[in-house]
Amino acid sequence: MIVDLAEQPTDHRIETDLCVIGGGAAGLAIAWYFRNRSDREVMVLESGGVDFEPDVQDLYAGELSGQRYYDLDVDRLRMLGGSTNHWGNQVGPFEPIDFEARPWIPHSGWPIVRADLDLWYRQAVEYFGLGAYDFDDLEGWQRQDPSLEPVALTGTPVFSKTWRVCMPAFLAGERHRVLFEQLAHLKLYLHACVTRISLSENGRAVQSIEATSLNGRRVTVHARRVVLAAGAIENARLLLVNDDVMPTGIGNQRDLVGRFFMDHIAFWSGHVTPRADVRLDAYDDIGPSTGGRFGRALCFYIDKAAQRANEIGVVRLKLDVEAAAHPRGAQSLSKPRRELLRGDFSSVHEHIADVFLDAPGVATSLYGRAVGRRPSRCLTMVEPFPNPDSRVTLTSDHDALGMRRVRLHWVVTDAERRTLRRAQEVFADAFAAAGVARLKMDTDFLEADWSRLAPREVVFEGSHMEGGHHHAGTTRMASSPDQGVVDADCKVFGLANLYVAGNSVFPTAGSLNPTFTIVALTLRLADHLEVGLVGDHELDPLPHDRVVIDDEHLALVGSRPGGARVRLHAGGVMTRGS
Ligand SMILES: Cc1cc2nc3c(=O)[nH]c(=O)nc-3n(C[C@H](O)[C@H](O)[C@H](O)COP(=O)(O)OP(=O)(O)OC[C@H]3O[C@@H](n4cnc5c(N)ncnc54)[C@H](O)[C@@H]3O)c2cc1C
Repeated sequence: MIVDLAEQPTDHRIETDLCVIGGGAAGLAIAWYFRNRSDREVMVLESGGVDFEPDVQDLYAGELSGQRYYDLDVDRLRMLGGSTNHWGNQVGPFEPIDFEARPWIPHSGWPIVRADLDLWYRQAVEYFGLGAYDFDDLEGWQRQDPSLEPVALTGTPVFSKTWRVCMPAFLAGERHRVLFEQLAHLKLYLHACVTRISLSENGRAVQSIEATSLNGRRVTVHARRVVLAAGAIENARLLLVNDDVMPTGIGNQRDLVGRFFMDHIAFWSGHVTPRADVRLDAYDDIGPSTGGRFGRALCFYIDKAAQRANEIGVVRLKLDVEAAAHPRGAQSLSKPRRELLRGDFSSVHEHIADVFLDAPGVATSLYGRAVGRRPSRCLTMVEPFPNPDSRVTLTSDHDALGMRRVRLHWVVTDAERRTLRRAQEVFADAFAAAGVARLKMDTDFLEADWSRLAPREVVFEGSHMEGGHHHAGTTRMASSPDQGVVDADCKVFGLANLYVAGNSVFPTAGSLNPTFTIVALTLRLADHLEVGLVGDHELDPLPHDRVVIDDEHLALVGSRPGGARVRLHAGGVMTRGS
């Protein structure tokens, strides 16, 4: 069922089993999980409609300080499907090391391991409509596209790994809206902007949720369980603004909500020129994501032993073959002649400036032409180091619904700069040792004193450094409330019925795009919630144990008057009464 709150004649009050705040990739994953569980009612409150609306989008506006970053009302989309309406569709599972505590990375380590997500990664494949879980099946991919040939780097710490994009493009709202159109136990409220999360007097449970449309219509929801799934910046904002019962904000007794904001840092950091007989097209970032035939590509990684030896985070090297073939400076070498021949003198000075400012690009292009090889521009994706000073806080400015807006203070530290430099050296040494390519680093940028650049003036888009648009870390998961905001089940410490979904719970961000992991983690959460909801019904026990079987997933959810709850997954043997 889909309800447009803005079109309701009166305010109203609703009771439900599960209330989800936010209808993006994470929020819709909860509804998707419960699609076959018609005995439980799930309600999703989504701030936007099905299309982009500027006045709703403006609720996302906020301030920036620290490192230059994207405007907060541009980098996110406030409508059904959330930011998947403009994402890059790059998907893949995290590696075991992404979850590990690494002594050289302060605050690293998840309270769960990669194996805890294995089942849910396989379910996520279905959620995204990817067909098969084949991220490691290079041979299978090569049968479809023989050009996916890894470069031989045996004996070096560098190896090649596959990643893929959703093809056709996946827009969460467009794909999964049909669930609400067809299933009565799934309710979607559009134009329902949550502004208030009311706690019980003792601050131990959420009592109600209030959502308002921009034209003032209101719905109050009483739910057994509540999941906050509004994106990493907004999850923190909603916890911080609701400070009437807990004066520092919900779940913020230890001043951790909003801290540890992370984004992947992508550096356009140099050029790779391959040996004449080596082809790098399979590593091209551009080909697959802009319509390559199968949406799959390779990238370079550094193994765990070398990460430990060099005390660096996870680093991924992708290549952009096309951009490097035509760097800006090289284009400016030929353009003035053409324009002068046309009698157009207007931009000659700009081209001359480009040639001088992009001297490395010009040199690489000329060298490539001279030796008959195509260089590739390197995009090095660096794992951010968790940093409590990178944070989301509230400002005194208010949005149209009276909610305080946020300030994002993002800090990029020397740890990331050192990781970038060392990783580039490891890649360069490996390519040289294997005799496959030459990597030329952009040392000017590496040696520049970023800290002395005025805030927001770091060389940014198109030149050297970009954020990944992967906001994470603001309600981090930990095994104790001293270290984080949610526990291993994504439940807010100290709150009986409030959970968080999305990459705000990531303690570290790895180097891979997050949304596949967000969805896997959210499906795991949904599974946990289902068990809890069964447990809630102590006065109304299920008459029989219930077996749920789908493609990959055999689960028993049972509750009997005696109280015992049981859950088995694939491979388990279940008998009634066990
Ligand atoms: C340009 C760009 C490219 C990207 N490319 C990739 C990529 O290739 N691969 C990848 O993995 N990730 C990518 N991402 C990131 C990806 O989009 C996010 O990881 C993903 O959308 C997060 O899902 P989410 O559900 O947690 O949050 P969102 O998608 O942000 O959804 C949050 C939802 O909550 C709603 N909401 C917010 N506040 C409220 C409120 N108060 N009340 C009710 N509802 C509310 C919003 O309207 C929205 O629908 C990209 C992002 C951008 C911007």
